[in-house]
Amino acid sequence: MLAFILRGRMKTKFKLIATAAAGLEAVVGREIRNLGLECQVENGRVRFDGTVETIIETNLWLRAADRIKIVVGSFPAKTFEELFQSVFALDWENYLPLGAKFPIAKAKCVKSKLHNEPSVQAISKKAVVKKLQKRYARPEGVPLIENGAEFKIEVSILKDVATVLIDTTGSSLFKRGYRAEKGGAPIKENMAAAILLLSNWYPDKPLIDPTCGSGTFCIEAAMIGMNIAPGLHRHFAFEEWNWVDSDLIRHVRARALGQIKQDIQLDILGTDIDARMVEIAKRNAEEAGVSEQIVFKQMRLQDLHTDKINGVIVSNPPYGERLLDDDAVTKLYQEMGQTFAPLKTWSKFILTSDEAFESKYGSPADKKRKLYNGTLKVDLYQYFGQRVKRQELK
Ligand code: SAH
Repeated sequence: MLAFILRGRMKTKFKLIATAAAGLEAVVGREIRNLGLECQVENGRVRFDGTVETIIETNLWLRAADRIKIVVGSFPAKTFEELFQSVFALDWENYLPLGAKFPIAKAKCVKSKLHNEPSVQAISKKAVVKKLQKRYARPEGVPLIENGAEFKIEVSILKDVATVLIDTTGSSLFKRGYRAEKGGAPIKENMAAAILLLSNWYPDKPLIDPTCGSGTFCIEAAMIGMNIAPGLHRHFAFEEWNWVDSDLIRHVRARALGQIKQDIQLDILGTDIDARMVEIAKRNAEEAGVSEQIVFKQMRLQDLHTDKINGVIVSNPPYGERLLDDDAVTKLYQEMGQTFAPLKTWSKFILTSDEAFESKYGSPADKKRKLYNGTLKVDLYQYFGQRVKRQELK
C-alpha cells in the first residue's frame, strides 16, 4: 500500500518556490534553469514546478537559494472567515500524515486588510486542524497529537492575497554542514557561491581570496569547480516525510556523488592576516572534502604578488560596522588599491558596506551590485581585468 502511494506521489506535480536574498534571485533562476527546469524570477523568490524528485534535487544542488517551499495554495483573503475557509479547503491530507507536527511557523502580512500576524497564524492553525480531524475521522474538540515529522507551514498575505507554503528545507540552505568553526564575521555560504556565480571566474582561472577568514569563498569555489552538490553533507526537513521515498533520496544523492569531478585541478588561494582564521579555513575545507584543491596561508593582503594572469580576486574585507575602526578601514582599502593595481589582467570583486569604498581604494568600479549580507546593505564592487592573451604579455 505504501509503495503504491509512493509511486503515485512520485509523479505528482508541485508548485514550488526557491527563496533568495534580495539581489540574488536571477542567480537562483539561472541555477534552476541549469537543472533543466523552467522558472519565473520574482522579488525574493523564483517559481517553478516539479515532482518529489525536483524537491530533492533543488535542495541538494541550488547554491545561491535560501529554501525550497511547496505552494499548497493561494487565494484572496480579506477577512478571517475567508482565510479560515480557504485554508480549510486546501488538500492538507496529501501533505500531512496523522501525527505530523505542523506549526504555522510564520505569518507575514503586507499591504493587506488582515494585518494581525499572530491571529493569521492562529486562524490558519485552526483551519488545518479542523480539516485533518475531518479527513482522519478524529473527533473535533480533541487536539491532534503532533509527535511525528515536522511540516513547517507559512502564510504570507500580500495585497489581500494569501499564499500558504510548506518549507521542505529545514535549516536554511546556506548551512552546508562543512563549517566547523566560523570565526568573526563569515559571509553566508549561499551569498559567497552567488557572488562566484555572478563573477567571471571559471574553474580554469586562478582565484585568490586575500581576506579569506573561515575560507567560505575558496571552499564554495572548489565545490563549484569539483561539481560537489552543496547539500551533500546535510539533512533536509523532507527526509523525515513519509511520502518522500528514501530510496529516491538515496538515488539522487548517489547520482550527485557520481558527478563529482575528482581529478580536476583548481588554482585557489586563500590568505588572511590572522593565523587562527587560516587554521579554521583549513579545517572547514577538510570537512567539505576540498582541502586538496585550496592552498591556505597566513599573509597580509599588502604582501600579495603574483605573476599569474587572468585570475579573479574575491574579497570580503573588514568593514567599519564589523571588524575595524574607520581609520584602519580607510588605510586597508587604500593599501588594497595599491596592491591590486599591478594585477591588471585580474578581475576584482570586493564586497563591503562602505559607501566610500571606491575613493579609498583609488578607482571607480566598472560595475556595482547592491546585495544584503544578512540585514546589512552591502555593495559588490566589480573591477574587470584587461583581457590579455598569454602571447601578448611576452
Ligand atoms: N569572508 C570571510 C570573512 C572575512 S572577514 C569568511 O567567510 O569567513 C575579514 C577578514 O579579513 C578577517 O578574517 C581578517 O583577519 C582579515 N584581514 C583583516 N586585515 C587584513 C589584512 N591586512 N590582510 C589580510 N587579511 C586581513
